Amino acid sequence: MMKNLESHPIDRSSDDVAAPGDIGVPVSVRIRERIKRASERFHANDNIAGFIAPGELEQLQVEVEGKVLGMLQSLVIDTESDHNTRATARRVARMYVQEVFRGRYQPAPRVTDFPNIEKLNELMIVGPITVRSACSHHLCPIIGKLWIGVLPNERSNLIGLSKYVRLADWVMSRPQIQEEAVARLADLLEESMRPDGLALVMEADHFCMQWRGVKDMDSKMTSSVMRGSFLKDPTLRREFLALMGNGFRA
Ligand SMILES: [Zn+2]
Repeated sequence: MMKNLESHPIDRSSDDVAAPGDIGVPVSVRIRERIKRASERFHANDNIAGFIAPGELEQLQVEVEGKVLGMLQSLVIDTESDHNTRATARRVARMYVQEVFRGRYQPAPRVTDFPNIEKLNELMIVGPITVRSACSHHLCPIIGKLWIGVLPNERSNLIGLSKYVRLADWVMSRPQIQEEAVARLADLLEESMRPDGLALVMEADHFCMQWRGVKDMDSKMTSSVMRGSFLKDPTLRREFLALMGNGFRA
């Protein structure tokens, strides 16, 4: 079964037809107006793909490029004579829109799930998966490892190994805080698989503490989410943490 998770229909009822004087309206304003009309959220870690019409993402990237250029100018960097920074605005805009924050702008990856024909009900562990995100406070990288434990039941849908990686990447490629990222990925996995239990552990380096701030290179942040049988059954939880531990800090 194919699923398109977290999709929104685009309501272009009132902005499809450009009104006179609309010519100069930035594409970000048009997208934001649609989101507001639908009473949806557009926080840094929300996916807004359903509100972006075909062709608008390219326009958005051009708009972001202009704003990044303005920031470089305000930082008094000579983007005309300094050949190293001449194309920086374009590169940064592409990096944000198409790469590191693409989880905000691209629809959810299509996930094919299949019924649990073998009636598997044993603990499965996936990981460590390398995950890359950014803090929403400074837009500094967060890079770490993620382990997923699943206890399926006979009615659960199962997904292939690579799908865990693709879903994790989609959720992580947004500015956010680590605890929210892990919780949101757990919601998504629960929704697609309906397991008896789900456990996620993420351990990550936060460049906002290493590159700036306290500049502590050794501190890592670990966050976990335990749901269903992992919450109720300490033995299962210990089994997961022990098996995960074999790959921990590897
Ligand atoms: Zn930060």
